[in-house]
Amino acid sequence: METTDHKLASKSASAAGRKQPEAATARTLWTGFEVPGLAEEVSSGDREKQSPSVPICGVVLRDRTSVEMVRNPSSGAVALLRREPGGKTTITREVACDGYRYVATAAASQIPHLPAEPMPYGSTTALFSAVAEFITKYSDLGDDEVALLASFSLSSFFGECLTLASSLLLFGAPLPAVALMRVLACVCRHPVLCLGSSVTGLAPELRPTRLICQSDAGTERQLAGFQFSGFTTQSAHPRQISGASVIYAADGELKTPFANLCLQLLVPRGNCSFGPPEQEREAATITSLQNQLLMYRLENYVKVKDSEFDVPEFYGPSREYARTLGRCIVDAPEVQARLRTLLQARSDAERTEDARTLDAVIVDALVVCCHERRPWVHVGEIAKLTNAILKSEDETVELTPKQVGGRLKAMQFRTTRLDSGGRGMYLLNGECARIHKLGRALGSVSVDKGLLGCRYCKNE
Ligand SMILES: [Zn+2]
Repeated sequence: METTDHKLASKSASAAGRKQPEAATARTLWTGFEVPGLAEEVSSGDREKQSPSVPICGVVLRDRTSVEMVRNPSSGAVALLRREPGGKTTITREVACDGYRYVATAAASQIPHLPAEPMPYGSTTALFSAVAEFITKYSDLGDDEVALLASFSLSSFFGECLTLASSLLLFGAPLPAVALMRVLACVCRHPVLCLGSSVTGLAPELRPTRLICQSDAGTERQLAGFQFSGFTTQSAHPRQISGASVIYAADGELKTPFANLCLQLLVPRGNCSFGPPEQEREAATITSLQNQLLMYRLENYVKVKDSEFDVPEFYGPSREYARTLGRCIVDAPEVQARLRTLLQARSDAERTEDARTLDAVIVDALVVCCHERRPWVHVGEIAKLTNAILKSEDETVELTPKQVGGRLKAMQFRTTRLDSGGRGMYLLNGECARIHKLGRALGSVSVDKGLLGCRYCKNE
């Protein structure tokens, strides 16, 4: 939520501060908060006379005072944390400002992980490593993928500062994908685990990190709204829905062009399990990470908003991702450099994709399948073969099954759902003939070499 929503003026932000219980000597900001009468700012009689309360999940006032939602890990009580630009921080039930009384939204109950209070994080690099370490512990992902996810986590804390909110598509089997979504929920801002894309059940003041476990037609319609702020839903109560999102796309048949603006990740089958027992065991670690990430947001909000980080030599959506993720990494050029390397392959792929050379490699992979006399082939296998050929040619580009599926479609190959292994193609005679013909046109190495006994190779 932006300050302008409620016309907050900086002068009233400071004027409105009533006497707070002194927390300076206490070990935690929560000390005394729940003792009746002590932390109450206004008696209930006074309250009725006041303006109605406005539920919020977090706001930065014009004088740069931040108001954030926090949850007491021992009692579960939700309150507001108020941090003035000078660093003075208090926990309070409500923040009065410009005739409004801000209170924590009741929808906080939908958010499984909230910080308790800000906690020092050392340095950006240290925080980045701590987040990465947590993801690594509960996934079978490689260092590069984990680094990308850690960047995603940081960027989820600065949605209002970004041109493009990070979105991530997960491919692969459902169990490891759900486990990874739960892991990400521990390290993202205001995570909400959703069954589908519907926003009707979500309070409008919530701007959560959506973790959608099932892609549906609504997801395709709303994806652009998740990615770009300012675009509202058209209904009796228009609302903005932008914010970081993670969507499980299974075998990747999203039709919207905005799917190309998502980061993409194939979750390996062996991905570790992560559910309520692990969550309980790690409760203290999760709260500690959320606390540090909250401090990171509080201290760096303005820097991220003003950042002009860019990688002009990048191409297409990769450049926007470099901006989005890179801006959220403050005072850590080495982490930014790492990110640049990670996105380089994606940028190369987008560039190469335009040059259409990837099509030739995909067709080459299909020719190999014809030569193996396979009756059918899964898109995932085509992707694997394609990547093997690319690797053998010293290319760093790797294609996801989704990208391969897209290119196949563009080349007018029909894919259908073969079995539980996902979509694929039947290699009937007509199809093999077409593959060879196209291979010849695109300069496929395998057709060029020819296979003894293959009637399509001979066919000039
Ligand atoms: Zn042949």
